[in-house]
Amino acid sequence: MKHYNIPIFMPELACPHRCVFCNQASISSQLHIPSKKEILIKIESHLKSFKTEKRSVQLAFFGGNFTGLPKTLQKEYLHLGRAYLEKGYISGIRISTRPDYIDIETLEMLKAYGVTHIELGAQSTSDKVLQASGRGHLREAIARASEQILSAGFVLGLQMMIGLPKDNAETSMQTARDLIAFGAKETRIYPCLVIKDTALEQLFLNGKYHPLQLNEAVDQTAKLCMFFESNRIKVLRMGLHPSEELNTDAFVAGPYHPQFAELVYSKLWEKQFQNYSDWPQAEVIELFVSSNQLNHAAGFKSQNRKLLEKRYRKIYFKADKSLNGREFSIKIHK
Ligand code: SF4
Repeated sequence: MKHYNIPIFMPELACPHRCVFCNQASISSQLHIPSKKEILIKIESHLKSFKTEKRSVQLAFFGGNFTGLPKTLQKEYLHLGRAYLEKGYISGIRISTRPDYIDIETLEMLKAYGVTHIELGAQSTSDKVLQASGRGHLREAIARASEQILSAGFVLGLQMMIGLPKDNAETSMQTARDLIAFGAKETRIYPCLVIKDTALEQLFLNGKYHPLQLNEAVDQTAKLCMFFESNRIKVLRMGLHPSEELNTDAFVAGPYHPQFAELVYSKLWEKQFQNYSDWPQAEVIELFVSSNQLNHAAGFKSQNRKLLEKRYRKIYFKADKSLNGREFSIKIHK
């Protein structure tokens, strides 16, 4: 079954807060809250574009702070989604919001309109990091909202960021442990970037904030990704969503790369190949991986292929349907 999302991006206009790193007007080219007509057009055009018969489709209200919108507007949006749900065109509705905008009454309303998945922008579970990031809530709010969401029967997603002010690799790993303990089934990992016209830009310009280097961000994300995978947590996204294309004029500093996730997948395979110098001697090898991992295994700009070419004259990456995830096997040609 192929899974599709119909993404509706809600910019920060829906959010009364201003976290130190956030200027969603710069991250999204979309500056206004979408009208009902725009949403309908988007849903219809996405539904027409799906070719696969066996599919599950979710309507996803991303970005901003969905439950921070006026209740009447939330209901109007959800009413549109519910109509598609009732006709069987979509199988669920997903929203993303802040932990401190969840309460029992809101959850009952979301349930009644067919919302199935709730993603919270947790970002960190360290109070020190949350305070330094101007989030306006503490760890306790994430724990409480997670518990309420799970008790009400939703699928819980908890998003996190790395490289926030006062954050480090160990604090981020602790955040990952906490997100799992809070019951997340899904996550997204976003590296913190310095964007123009944010409080973080001022901290950066005053030398009080040092963003992660790209290689540090890739390394940290790869470790977090492995940790989540080993705990059966789906990593839905790493880096910015392609539809949230960063306006390069707004980018000031930080580990931005348009193919950030590709760099992470490459790194994950590099870790798989770390013992390659112990592999058998040969001129040529065939390296088998699952078909959807062929590009990742060879690496971004063939960097893993180049690594293995230190030992082998020629490497052929080939698909093997019996392999899953990052499993691989090798065949030696003397
Ligand atoms: S809660 Fe989300 S949308 Fe609102 S300011 Fe913070 S990061 Fe931006």
